[in-house]
Parts: sequence; structure tokens; C-alpha cells
Amino acid sequence: MQILVQKFGGISVQSAENRKHVIRHIQKAKKEGFKIVIVVSALGRKPDPYATDTLVELVQHTHGAVSRRELDLLMSCGETIAAVILSAELQQRQVKAMALTGAQAGIVTNADYNQAKIKAIVPQRIKETLETHDVVVVAGFQGQTSAGDTTTLGRGGSDTTAAALGAAFQAERIEIFTDVQGIMTADPRMVKQAKPIKTATYTEICNLAYQGAKVIHPRAVEIAMQAGIPMQIRSVYMDDMGTRIDAGNNRWHVSERLVTGIAHTPAIVQLCIETEAEPLRLQPAIFKAMAETGISVDFISISPSRVIFTVAERVADQAIHILQTLDMKVAVTPDCAKVSAVGAGMRDIPGVASKIVSALTDAGVQILQAADSHTTIWVLIHGKDVHRAVNAMHAIFELDHVNV
Ligand code: ADP
Ligand code: ASP
Ligand code: MG
Repeated sequence: MQILVQKFGGISVQSAENRKHVIRHIQKAKKEGFKIVIVVSALGRKPDPYATDTLVELVQHTHGAVSRRELDLLMSCGETIAAVILSAELQQRQVKAMALTGAQAGIVTNADYNQAKIKAIVPQRIKETLETHDVVVVAGFQGQTSAGDTTTLGRGGSDTTAAALGAAFQAERIEIFTDVQGIMTADPRMVKQAKPIKTATYTEICNLAYQGAKVIHPRAVEIAMQAGIPMQIRSVYMDDMGTRIDAGNNRWHVSERLVTGIAHTPAIVQLCIETEAEPLRLQPAIFKAMAETGISVDFISISPSRVIFTVAERVADQAIHILQTLDMKVAVTPDCAKVSAVGAGMRDIPGVASKIVSALTDAGVQILQAADSHTTIWVLIHGKDVHRAVNAMHAIFELDHVNV
């Protein structure tokens, strides 16, 4: 049987009105002869009652007393509710559907609660169900350990569920329906002139997603890439196919694109530690302490007199506390943001960094740190400047003019 995976995000399933669009896409795929694996996110966004952030708030007054294991049990409820509602609405319209939790759908994960990794998909239950039904509606974002505990896959993880099921069933394609036209040259909430990208390679989108383009989870793109299944990121409100992501064979313009898009990540804190007294002891001690507590560091800059790096805001207090207990003096720059220009074509092209520095300087944005790889240039700036910085970088690479 020909299988299509369709994933619908929080806004797509938020209201009965929006779910009419969802059902229209499912009915169309059914008419085309597909058996359909649907993946759903929790309904809406905070303060909607069953949105993931709303559920998390239910235990906030316990100040961390809830274990990560139990937090997963709570957070997974939103997707379960969404699966049942959508399945009922499909059955009401004579589409034979069955709702399945992640566990029932055979999603086996490790026990790294709140950010579990899928270890295997046991396909039997979905296979059997699709012999007698048109559609299975799988609760996204959740899985189960081999010991039977519920897990979640990290924020935005319903995309990962969709990609893993697409890979396991060798789906024709994985369609990710969301509230924007597709993947755009920047977050359209930030850049009015952002343009939809029609085709892109897995690598380009994976890089953009890792740098903060929240429209798709980077892990989902990696899974689809490994399985060679094309993805289509598209609007739930439209029939347009949005952005196609694949290996990009025979599309020379894709690999040649200088800059594909601009991404940004807010809520970053920069830490600076003076090491002049004892650099050889302090340098390794700092990074060992971060590694042992599982804190990821970025924008590392080491000189004999000091060590500078950044951490996510949510772990900043913990990082500062650890460094202080090691008798280190830490200077903190709170509320920073990272803005990245991503593009496979910037490899070996001189002048890309110079363009960025000029654009940011002209826009009055102070650069705190910068770094680069073959495909990405990152700058760290003050959070208050992020809107100006993203727009200036979008404009300097003329992303509002290109027909992508
Ligand atoms: P869903 O619940 O459908 O998964 P998300 O909120 O996770 O939706 O992702 C969609 C949002 O991603 C959009 O509303 C948009 O603001 C944001 N976004 C960030 N970067 C981009 C980008 N480059 N292209 C499109 N959308 C982006
Ligand atoms: N509901 C989950 C979240 O908000 C998963 C998802 O939407 O993909 O992170
Ligand atoms: Mg999402």
C-alpha cells in the first residue's frame, strides 16, 4: 500500500474551524488512493487549555518537584487529546480512522525524559490498522521506553514523529502542515519581506533549523534525509505545496545558493571568565564542569587571559553557580541573541563576513562575538537588536528579491 504521512501542528488543529482544513487535506490524500498516517500536535498555543506550555504550567507551583519522567507523562497528554478529537471528526465524516498513542504506534525511545531519542519503530499495529482503516491518527511528540514509561521527544518533536514514521513505512513523502506558506528566507514574524523557499536540500534546511528556524525540527530533517524520503512543508490553509526538501540532485541552483536564509535564536547568555592567573588550570576546568552537568556551550573563544562562551538562558543560573563554586569570577551579559546566515554556496566565497559586518554596523547593531563554518556565519548580539539585525542581514543578501 502507498503510504503518505501528514503532520498537523498546533495551530492547524487548534479549533474546529482550522481542523476543517486538516480534514480537507486528509480527504484529498484518501481520494488519491493513499493510506494515511496522520501525526498531530497538541491543540493550539498557550493559553489554550491543552497546549503543551499550558500543561507544563500546571506543575510550575511545585518548583521543580515534578520529576522529568512525570513531566513527560503530563506533557504527552496534549497530543493524545488532539489525536482523539481529530479521529472522531474524521469518523463523523465517514473517514475510517483510529487514534493511537505514540506507544500504541510502536514508537520505542530511550529513557532520556523530555528529549528522548527514537530507538525503533515497531510497525505492526499501524500496518494492521491500515488494512481495515483509511487513516491512523498518531499522537506526535511521544514515545515509550522498553520498560513502558511515557517519554517526549523534545519541543517541536511532533515533526520527529512524522519523519520517523515516514522512514519506517517508506512513505511516498512526509507532509508537514503548519501556519505559514512553507520554509521562508527568515521567520515571517520577524521579516515582513521574507519569501517562501520552493525547493531546498535536507542539509540547507537542517542547518537553518539548528540555527533556530523553528518551522521544522532539525532531527526530523535528518531522519528524512537518512531514509531518502522527500518532505513538503506547507500551509494548512492552502493547496500550494510549499517547500519541497530533498537531496537536491540535478538542481544546481540549490547547492550554488549563496545564502538560503537567516535564522535567529533568542534567550542566550554570554559568560566571560578571567583566567589570567592560571590559564592552564582554569581553561580545562571550565569546560569539564559544563560537560559534567550536561550544559551545551557555544561561541567559545579562548585566549590566555580569558574564556568567553555562551549558554542557553534556561541553564545560565546553573552554569554561573557551578563556575562560582569553583572560585571563578564570571562576568555575565544577559539577553543575547544569535543571528545566523545559512547557505551552502558561501563556501570559499570571499566577502560574505564583510557584508554582514557592514550591514550590522550600518544598522547600529553591536556585534559581541562572531564565528563561521563552511555553510554558516553566526553573530552574537544584544537581544534588543535582533529585529534590526535579522532584517539587515536579510536585506544585504537581497533575500526579498530572489525567486527561490
Ligand atoms: P507547528 O505547531 O505547526 O509545528 P511552529 O510554531 O513549530 O508550528 O512552526 C511554525 C512557525 O515557525 C511559524 O509560525 C513561523 O513564525 C516560525 N518560523 C521561524 N523561522 C521560520 C522560517 N524560516 N520559515 C517559516 N517559518 C518560520
Ligand atoms: N506540542 C509539542 C511542543 O509544543 C510538540 C510539537 O508541537 O511538535 O513542543
Ligand atoms: Mg513545530
